Amino acid sequence: TLSDRLGGVFDRLRGRGALKEQDVRDAMREVRIALLEADVALPVVRRFIDSVTEAAVGHAVLRSVTPGQQVVKIVNDALVEMLGGEETPSLDLNAAPPVVIMMVGLQGSGKTTSTAKLAKLLKEKQGKKVLMASLDVNRPGAQEQLRVLGEQVSVSTLPIVEGQLPVDIATRALQSAKLQAIDVLLLDTAGRLHVDQGLMDEMKAVAAISKPRETLLVVDSLTGQDAVNVAQSFAGQVDLTGVILTRMDGDARGGAALSMRAVTGKPIKFAGIGEKMDAIEPFHPGRVASRILGMGDVVSIVEKAAAAIEQEDAERMAERMAKGQFDMNDLRQQLRQMQKMGGLGALAGMMPGMKKAKAAMQQSGMDDKVLLRMDAIIGSMTPKERTKPDLLNAKRKIRIANGSGVQVQDVNKLLKMHQEMERAMKQIKKMGGLKGLGALFG
Ligand code: GDP
Ligand code: MG
Repeated sequence: TLSDRLGGVFDRLRGRGALKEQDVRDAMREVRIALLEADVALPVVRRFIDSVTEAAVGHAVLRSVTPGQQVVKIVNDALVEMLGGEETPSLDLNAAPPVVIMMVGLQGSGKTTSTAKLAKLLKEKQGKKVLMASLDVNRPGAQEQLRVLGEQVSVSTLPIVEGQLPVDIATRALQSAKLQAIDVLLLDTAGRLHVDQGLMDEMKAVAAISKPRETLLVVDSLTGQDAVNVAQSFAGQVDLTGVILTRMDGDARGGAALSMRAVTGKPIKFAGIGEKMDAIEPFHPGRVASRILGMGDVVSIVEKAAAAIEQEDAERMAERMAKGQFDMNDLRQQLRQMQKMGGLGALAGMMPGMKKAKAAMQQSGMDDKVLLRMDAIIGSMTPKERTKPDLLNAKRKIRIANGSGVQVQDVNKLLKMHQEMERAMKQIKKMGGLKGLGALFG
């Protein structure tokens, strides 16, 4: 697994301090091989490696975890992001009933099974009145298969009429759904053994008349790279709204899941995890990421360490602010906090008021690189200088500038910024600490 490969590299990362570029590159070479072995599409791997490298280089290492552990966490976070982020997507049923969900995909991918599973879920978890219809006129017994599954999950299916075309069945299903005041109509379409134009045209015709709110591509996660090709062809032909990955109970290496999002741009909404009718679950990017990485425990150690330190730091900071204290260590902590929140750009996006501040900072040449540079300047100060910046005379400033690879004027800028912030802290203290500040703005 990825974890075996990374073990050796991470052992070499045990030094302290920020992650060095070469260390990260070595680790990424291993990550790359492991992802390719897990059947992730090559362009996806490239994009992934680039984004992780950028995030990891220069990333400060948390106290109490090793740089190696920290890289695992960074890789994990990037995997989660690639799989669709933290949130679990749900079905969009915001349309006038009957809301149509169309299931598409190759034969044998698990469409019919997933249709019945979803029907059960909608009925039992959301109290929906559901109707299913099979439009699969190609495979003998396909419509009958859905009828049997419908009986199993106690969801009605459209009565079978021999000799009808898919479009006619869809029309009949819509009429029937309206008459019975059905909330959700699930259309199980035909699949071929490979992607062909006939299949695509039929699907488009059905979509045109039934106007599905959700068009879910069902893909078999065990087919790895093939699943990606299939997804690409479907995404080019119909407006997919999401993906269902089946056979996630098998020993899929996760590659299909990773590529799927990048290739279709659509979220994976559900994972099929067995043949039984309740073997379906919302897709959890976090779980899949740690499965791919095989290092779920490392990730949670780093998360816990980060949370504990954050808590500690926040408490310490609040205490110091209440006393009107603000030294270089505090400034550094603030800078790092900003960086962790995604740098100035992300901050600006979050807070309306920050837009102006950001523009002003950019004008004065202050961008995310400046955050790193300021961090480096503080890093070149002695512990004593950090707590007592007044010590910084011309000679010391030159030493610090040389040590951090900047000009003396950059050191001065930082000192000025610190002075202003310190003054602000004293002001806050005078007004009665943060509580007073709250009263002022509340
Ligand atoms: P369709 O041709 O796309 O409609 O595929 P089916 O729904 O008929 O499924 C084909 C086979 O795959 C059946 O035997 C299903 O029981 C099985 N299957 C479907 N989804 C899953 C899954 O998530 N896990 C496992 N283990 N088997 C599945
Ligand atoms: Mg089927």
